[in-house]
Amino acid sequence: MKLVFLGAPGAGKGTQAKRLVEKYGIPQISTGDLLRAAVAEGTPLGKEAKAYMDRGELVPDSVVLGMVKERLSQDDCKKGFILDGFPRNVAQAEALDKMLSEMNMPLDLALNLDVPFDDLMKRLTGRRTCKSCGQMYNIYYSPSKVEGKCDKCGGELFQRDDDKEETIRKRLEVYRAQTEPLIDYYSRKGILKSVSGTGSIDEIFNSICTILEKKAN
Ligand code: AMP
Repeated sequence: MKLVFLGAPGAGKGTQAKRLVEKYGIPQISTGDLLRAAVAEGTPLGKEAKAYMDRGELVPDSVVLGMVKERLSQDDCKKGFILDGFPRNVAQAEALDKMLSEMNMPLDLALNLDVPFDDLMKRLTGRRTCKSCGQMYNIYYSPSKVEGKCDKCGGELFQRDDDKEETIRKRLEVYRAQTEPLIDYYSRKGILKSVSGTGSIDEIFNSICTILEKKAN
């Protein structure tokens, strides 16, 4: 299954994508995670990206496209992949179509995780991630048992630099202006499905799996 995950920041794409990885054994390609890894390693690409990320703006397409192309060329993507946080604008979507058609592996589905705008703020400001294993929590909806510590591995929980309130406002603005038009883009291509992103993680996951299984048959 070759899948693009759409949805606003905080819609839960990362959480659901991780579940899909476990169930279907296909890789999750998160451009946000790849960029954060480059920032942490202090690579030239990471240094360039950090300033945009801290402002809540999109990193230039040229940087992101190179990264995605390299990742999609790896062998584990042959049987399918989940793109999470990419594409983020129409130019990236067009570039992706071109890339995938050259690689002879067109997209099967664009899945839009739909969450009311007002819920997103609380989801994002409450988000915490484990430094060691990447497990995610939310201090309002799904807190860890001990504050600041991961239930799974005891690692330290942290708040992403771009999950601060001002940056979040900007990221949501950028989403509306640049990413939301992709719903139309994939709808016109006839591969869009929408799922409600409110409810429990399990309920949402089940709705997603139902769609994937229908598509596979
Ligand atoms: P995310 O974890 O997907 O919310 O991404 C965090 C930040 O990384 C975004 O606010 C952007 O600055 C940058 N970013 C992630 N994916 C992309 C992309 N496809 N295009 C441009 N910038 C991106």
